[in-house]
Amino acid sequence: MKVLVNAGPWLAVPPPGYGGIENVLATLVPALRERGVSVVLASVGASTLEVDELLCAYDDGQFTELQKPYNQVMGIAHAHLARVVDELRRRDDIDLVHDHVEVVGPAVLSALGGPPVLHTLHWDLRKHPAFYGAFPSSIAVSGVSESQLARAPDALRAAALGAVHLATPLAERDVRVEREDYLVVMGRVCGLKGQHVAARICQKLGLPLVLAGPVSGRDTPAELDVVAQNPYHPLHNHPDVRYHLDQVSPYLDGDLVRWIGSVGGQARDHLYASARAALFPIQWDEPGGTAVVEALALGVPPVGLRRGCLPEIIDHGRTGFLADTEEELAELVLRVDELDPEECRREARRRFSPSVMAERYLELYEEVARGTGTR
Ligand code: UDP
Repeated sequence: MKVLVNAGPWLAVPPPGYGGIENVLATLVPALRERGVSVVLASVGASTLEVDELLCAYDDGQFTELQKPYNQVMGIAHAHLARVVDELRRRDDIDLVHDHVEVVGPAVLSALGGPPVLHTLHWDLRKHPAFYGAFPSSIAVSGVSESQLARAPDALRAAALGAVHLATPLAERDVRVEREDYLVVMGRVCGLKGQHVAARICQKLGLPLVLAGPVSGRDTPAELDVVAQNPYHPLHNHPDVRYHLDQVSPYLDGDLVRWIGSVGGQARDHLYASARAALFPIQWDEPGGTAVVEALALGVPPVGLRRGCLPEIIDHGRTGFLADTEEELAELVLRVDELDPEECRREARRRFSPSVMAERYLELYEEVARGTGTR
C-alpha cells in the first residue's frame, strides 16, 4: 500500500522542539513503513524523517507565519495543498491519503475526487463549528480520543470510524535516568494548558516546577523578551504572550518556578524523564494529549484535571491522578510518590506504542480503501 501522509507546511517532521501533529507523524510513519506501507510525506523541505518520498511547497516550516492575518495563513496552507493536488493529479500509484491538515485539507481533497482520504481530527472540534457541522461526506474521519469525538457535531460523530489514541516511540524504549525533585509541565504555554495553575500550586506548596514549551512560537526567554519589551511588536498583544507575561511570569522567581522555553530531542526526553511527576492543569478539553502519553512512557506519573481525553489515558490511582478542582489537584500533587513508575511504563507499552497506533490505522486504511469508511 502507498499512502500519502499530509502533514502540512507548519513544522518539519520530526519537529525541532514543540510540535503536536508533527510528533504524532514522526511516531506513526516509521511504524507504518515497518509494516510494508510506502509513505509519501507532504511536509516541508526541512523534514528529516525517513520516508519513501518527500513532497513540499516550502523549504522550512511556516509556523511563525501563523501569526499573520488569516488570509495569509490560508494562502500558505493552500500553496502547500496545491503541491499535493498537483502530485495526486499527475500519478495514480497513491492508494490512500492520510490527511492531518485542519479545514483546508478536507476542503481541497474532497473537491479533487482523487484517491480515498482518511482525515484525522486533531483539534477541539468546536473551533470551526460551521466547517465540522458540514464536513464533506466523501472524506473518512477518525479522532484522537473518544471524548473529542463525543463533542463533535452529530453528523461527524456518527460518521467517524473511531478514535486512535496518540502514541510515542518512548513507549518502546527504556529511558531510565536519575529522578530529580522537580515537577514539570510540558506543552505550549497558553491559557488552555493552564501553566499558571501549576505555578500557583507549586509556589504555595514550595515544590520546584519547570515549565517547558514555547510561547506563541518564541522558543527562549530571550526571544520572548524581544516581544515583551517592544509594544509595537506584532506579537506583543498575542493572547499567549499576554498569558505568559500577565499570568505566568508573576510566579517565575528564577528558583522554585522556572520557565525554560522549549526543549527538543534528547534534552526534552531527559528533562521529562527526570521529573517526579508531570502536571496537566488543563483549562480545556484536551483532544489527544501526546505529552500525557509521553509522561506515562517515561514512568513519570501524570497528574491533571479530569477533562478532555485525560480520563481515557490516566487510570486514577494506578497510572496517575485526576482532580476535579485546583484544591484537589494540589492535594494529589503531594501524593505523587505513591504512584508506581513501572505501572505507568507498562500501560504506555500496552496502549500507546507506535505498533498499537500503526496497527489501528492500518485497519482504518483498509476500511477506507475498500470504500466502507465513508458515508
Ligand atoms: N513538546 C516539546 N518541547 C516542548 C514542549 C512540548 O517537544 O518544549 C512536545 C511534547 O513533548 C508533545 C508535543 O510537543 O510531544 C505537544 O503535544 P500535545 O498533544 O501534548 O499538545 P498540543 O498539540 O495541544 O500542543
